[in-house]
Amino acid sequence: MGSIFSKIIAKEIPSDIVYQDELVTAFKDIHPQAPVHILIVTNKEIATAADVTAEDEPALGRMFVVATQLARKHGIDESGYRLIVNCKHDGGQEVYHLHMHLLGGRRLGPMLARRD
Ligand code: AMP
Repeated sequence: MGSIFSKIIAKEIPSDIVYQDELVTAFKDIHPQAPVHILIVTNKEIATAADVTAEDEPALGRMFVVATQLARKHGIDESGYRLIVNCKHDGGQEVYHLHMHLLGGRRLGPMLARRD
């Protein structure tokens, strides 16, 4: 279990953990892109969204439930927010440990950066 997120889950390196249970851990992104920017990661070290299997369904479902709870707790459930899972190179994934970004607290603009 070598990813930086595994070290955060194990509390081997510091982070601002806002939620943890037996399946997922949520902590504040170190470089926030919005007033609320939380990462929800599977405790199991799944490398990418392309690597999930049927046995991961409980953890994947938990990610969404926790995202909903954290959005409410951080007061963005009414204004809205965005959930992002980047996958591999073209998806812009930097950390190869499956995670969902919860972003909100401001208008986030178009879903994708323009290409031009
Ligand atoms: P992605 O590009 O989807 O792989 O997102 C990786 C995210 O992890 C980025 O938004 C980083 O700012 C964030 N990140 C990297 N290292 C840390 C860390 N030690 N603590 C919190 N967030 C981190």
